[in-house]
Amino acid sequence: MSWRDVADTTQGWLHDTDGPLLQQYALDAPEGPFVEIGGYCGKSACWLGDAARTKDTVLFSIDWHRGSPEMAVGRECHHPEMIGADGVFDTLPHFRRNIRAAGLEDWVIPIAAASTVVGRYWQTPIGFLFIDGAHDDTGVMADYRHWAPHVIPGGYLLFHDVTIPGIGVAAQAAVDDGFDYVTQVESLRVLRR
Ligand code: MG
Repeated sequence: MSWRDVADTTQGWLHDTDGPLLQQYALDAPEGPFVEIGGYCGKSACWLGDAARTKDTVLFSIDWHRGSPEMAVGRECHHPEMIGADGVFDTLPHFRRNIRAAGLEDWVIPIAAASTVVGRYWQTPIGFLFIDGAHDDTGVMADYRHWAPHVIPGGYLLFHDVTIPGIGVAAQAAVDDGFDYVTQVESLRVLRR
């Protein structure tokens, strides 16, 4: 199975244009690792992991893997297969299985923890940052505040789901802080420092 087959069959909420766009800007990023906030089952990590392999860098995929409120039982983004044998929501086994099937384990490094906890201790400059974690107003702004300062000059910052008002606010804060607008396709906005 190719990485692309895995990307195409993995559960997730990427538009058809999102994967190619993520990959295009990841390949164009300056030197430094890629970081994504919100890995879920590894769909975007397949696209970014393949780009990381090409550039001889890595993708750190940060997700606590316990889901978000909209993924809970009875909510619009719930998928029953994400509940483990212990009855607890856990997408990490899905993520690892998919990245292994895609042949990308050497380039995709999962970090199973809350993004703001890792962010408090993170010190490594980032060439490409994809924010697609918490989708509530305070959560996405916290991700932006913790992670965007690490994006190096020329580096990219991408927000998914910017059509959600609170995420649009965070993306606008990035422009106010000096990031340049590059493009937006569907809900994926591309900014550059
Ligand atoms: Mg999203």
